[in-house]
Amino acid sequence: MKYKRILLKLSGEALMGDQQYGIDSNRLLQYAQEIKDVAALGVEVAVVIGGGNIFRGVQAEQVGLDRVQGDYMGMLATVINSMALQSALEKLKVYTRLLSGINIQQVCEPYIRRRAVRHLEKGRVVIFGAGTGNPYFTTDSAASLRAIEIEADVVLKGTRVDGIYSADPEKDPDAIFYSNISFKDVFEKGLNVMDMTAFTLCKENDLPIIVFDMNTAGNLKRLVEGEHIGTLVSM
Ligand code: UDP
Repeated sequence: MKYKRILLKLSGEALMGDQQYGIDSNRLLQYAQEIKDVAALGVEVAVVIGGGNIFRGVQAEQVGLDRVQGDYMGMLATVINSMALQSALEKLKVYTRLLSGINIQQVCEPYIRRRAVRHLEKGRVVIFGAGTGNPYFTTDSAASLRAIEIEADVVLKGTRVDGIYSADPEKDPDAIFYSNISFKDVFEKGLNVMDMTAFTLCKENDLPIIVFDMNTAGNLKRLVEGEHIGTLVSM
């Protein structure tokens, strides 16, 4: 295997499938199956899911509500998604643990780094809920932070697109696809890979990011087996 320990970041919106809101059960099971296939190879898998299919902090601000309150609502949305994924994985007989950045002990364990690492070593899929546990951050930042903490080999950002382009390929026919790009070039070209906090965390800790199409079946498995899929961002 190319990677021994991975952190997979999935957006909340990806869970919507073709719906306008919430969780599409087929999509959820598809993701669970992809994760199972990778875990079955002996790869240690940690997952961070966003909450954008349910709530984002900026939405609260837009309607005149408190931003920090909205961010906590967003974090709770990620817990809902994480619980759904945990349940889908368990249905497929995959051992999982959900660790939350906010204490909600009836439904998940509190996030404790050493415990997370121990779960991974035992072959359990670890889901990190509630982002970083702090407002004004994103789940991309949570993905970078947790990946660094658990010493993951790579952050795999599963998206609807097949990687990073110089421009939006749906709008610009001349958009160039990058299969490899450096952190420096991403920064200088102003490409949108992750928000700046998340991106800088990876850059400063020499943690590679791969942006890839999560909706193509088998991509995740092929990636951990060493196939070059999507865009690799590295030093
Ligand atoms: N959030 C937060 N702190 C974190 C992670 C998330 O406050 O560490 C909140 C924030 O309001 C964010 C929402 O949770 O908008 C949902 O996360 P995100 O937007 O990253 O989800 P995604 O876009 O990946 O679905």
